[in-house]
Amino acid sequence: MPRPIEALIHVDALVHNLARVRECAPDARVWAVVKANAYGHGIERVYDGLRGADGFALLDLAEAERVRALGWRGPVLLLEGVFEPRDLELCSRLDLWHTVHCSEQIDWLAAHKTQAPQRVFLKLNSGMNRLGLRPEAFRSAWTRLNALPQVGEISLMTHFADADAAPASGRGIDEAMARFEAATRDLPGERSVANSAATLRHAAAAADWVRPGIMVYGSAPDFPQHDIAHWGLRPTMTLRSRLIAVQRLAQGDRVGYGSSFTAEGPMRIGIVACGYADGYPRHAPSGTPMLVDGVRTRTVGRVSMDMLTVDLTPVPAAALGSEVTLWGEGPRGSRLPIDEVADPAGTLGYELMCALAMRVPVRAV
Ligand SMILES: *Cc1c(COP(=O)(O)O)cnc(C)c1O
Repeated sequence: MPRPIEALIHVDALVHNLARVRECAPDARVWAVVKANAYGHGIERVYDGLRGADGFALLDLAEAERVRALGWRGPVLLLEGVFEPRDLELCSRLDLWHTVHCSEQIDWLAAHKTQAPQRVFLKLNSGMNRLGLRPEAFRSAWTRLNALPQVGEISLMTHFADADAAPASGRGIDEAMARFEAATRDLPGERSVANSAATLRHAAAAADWVRPGIMVYGSAPDFPQHDIAHWGLRPTMTLRSRLIAVQRLAQGDRVGYGSSFTAEGPMRIGIVACGYADGYPRHAPSGTPMLVDGVRTRTVGRVSMDMLTVDLTPVPAAALGSEVTLWGEGPRGSRLPIDEVADPAGTLGYELMCALAMRVPVRAV
């Protein structure tokens, strides 16, 4: 028998979460962001759930080829644009739309030989200082692009650093939005600014195209301010395993590497076939939530490579073979959002889903 761990991808939940995007941004078209192999879910596994989107956004050219190989004829957007001039040939061949975020990419376009003009999204650096042209260089970049026969329609985009920020933090999207509006005033073209956090929290920023990623995959971009129940989202990935052993501890007994957990009294613990080599976060402290037979309990001791340990006190009937839900949907309607595991481990739902390890078998259901 194989090791009992597996991951499930819930196609119906992807459909549901995409419908939530439509509710939040009824007048916008939707890029389903499927970068990083659909946030670790697998592009081929999410395709059926997300084909109701208006386009797919990603950044790896090989992933764009996979989307086309699935038969998708609609828009595909390269969120970081091309990485070198010859990538433009693939854009022509596969009809990929691409972001232009720096003047070098305009030079490459000017030197590119193509019959069919390409659709580009010109990106403004509105304050995040990652990708994009600075406001003072934006208009001249647009004018240059507009004069190129290699370029067809030009759309305008930016990306927010603080769309998830709590109002009390004093951060948010207002400043970036004002910069975007000032830099793009009077320019024609469709606009795209909103990631998941902006789509959920700032309806006025929906513009022509929204670009939701994490909300489609059932994680709240602003956890712990809000959880997925608040946003009406459903988990799209379940990581589950089983107990492969049970230990009885006496008061003072310790658990795992570094003996970091000490039993305060007699208790039973379960040994779960899941460790950091499966993608479970090694930094999850004792007390990180977990479901055993659908009952909420907590980890004890350190996570090791192939195993971790769980307190069985709330689940007296648990035994070898009992089902363990690391995150996602458990038995009998139980649920453990991935954000509740990521947060105590000092990380995000994003990182956990993307870090699901190769050795875990994955199945779309
Ligand atoms: C990843 C990404 C998104 C999606 O972000 P989420 O927070 O997952 O919704 C949107 N736009 C760009 C440019 C991105 O790189």
